[in-house]
Amino acid sequence: KKHNVAILYGGKSGEHDVSLLSASSVERHLDKKKYNIHLIGITLEGLWYYQHNYTNSSQSLEIVRDESKLISLIPGKGIMYHGQILDIDFIFPILHGTFGEDGTLQGLLDIIDIPYAGSGMEGSFMAMDKEYAKIVWEKEGLPVVPFISIKKHTFIDNPNEIEKQINNKFNYPIFVKPVKTGSSVGVSRVDSSDKLLPALKNAFNYDHKVLIEPAINAREIECSVIGNNYPKTFSLGEIAPSHEFYDYEAKYIDPNGAKLIIPAILTENQKEEIKEIARKAYIAINCKGFSRVDFFLDIDTNSVMLNEINTIPGFTNVSMFSMLCAEDGLNYSDLLDKIFEYGQGKYREQQ
Ligand code: ADP
Ligand code: MG
Ligand code: MG
Repeated sequence: KKHNVAILYGGKSGEHDVSLLSASSVERHLDKKKYNIHLIGITLEGLWYYQHNYTNSSQSLEIVRDESKLISLIPGKGIMYHGQILDIDFIFPILHGTFGEDGTLQGLLDIIDIPYAGSGMEGSFMAMDKEYAKIVWEKEGLPVVPFISIKKHTFIDNPNEIEKQINNKFNYPIFVKPVKTGSSVGVSRVDSSDKLLPALKNAFNYDHKVLIEPAINAREIECSVIGNNYPKTFSLGEIAPSHEFYDYEAKYIDPNGAKLIIPAILTENQKEEIKEIARKAYIAINCKGFSRVDFFLDIDTNSVMLNEINTIPGFTNVSMFSMLCAEDGLNYSDLLDKIFEYGQGKYREQQ
């Protein structure tokens, strides 16, 4: 029997366009002999539209808006369309950032009661909030970049006091970043104190909490992880940005913005250490299905530090996440099958 699956894509998020690329790849590579596919597009405003007779010949999925094709959700029952509950037994939420990757959607899917790919509400939220993720990892004894977090209202109340606090605590350069964005949205490298206030203001446009960290002179190493309670890792990859750091332009706009080096050139000990930390970091914040764990390898001290974990990383067939799996023989279509399996009810608790 074929599985009826829905791909959710787009989303009310700064990473909306990235999702259109990821979802297009997922749609094209899901094995049509195994899956009947429904597409549900979510607009930037957060409206859900059923996509009829979609075509997906390009690299990016579109969202057709048709007021007669709005979706409704019935708690405990599923997804309703034109007065009927759709026969959908699994969802691939291929959404990045807010309202897709941050746990809100996962909670909603739990309430409508359809199993889905990837982390649940807790794992998604903990991973998205870079401060909470680091607090948990520190508690587990895992190495993280030192940080402080600042709340928006304290900044608004007294920006000069916050500025003084940061200047007392850190040497420049530093990084200023919103706690819950992805794709480097709102992230700045600040080289001197006169650039601090604009960087803070910019970051607070995206979030009510902002992290301050020392800029690490580092190689950026990434590790794909799949599974539930006993996660597996793959060969590691390295990102070598040609920009000052791996910013939004380097990620998506400038075709020469970064080199993806697969596999990363590292010693056996470094590889083992990074994979072990990746597995522990994944388990510590309750990730399920799949994630990409990102590291800094400090060039000056040779030490490994966790940077962040992405529960729905860039997900095309040529994204770092899937290419690392392919490097070790797990091709993209088979990877999608695995992620489908890991999302199934009982299996999810056991594996
Ligand atoms: P995002 O979730 O948006 O990818 P990151 O924390 O990974 O957020 O930051 C984006 C990029 O900014 C990183 O890939 C890296 O290039 C740079 N960066 C972030 N924090 C630091 C830091 N403390 N030191 C050096 N570079 C950093
Ligand atoms: Mg991220
Ligand atoms: Mg990142």
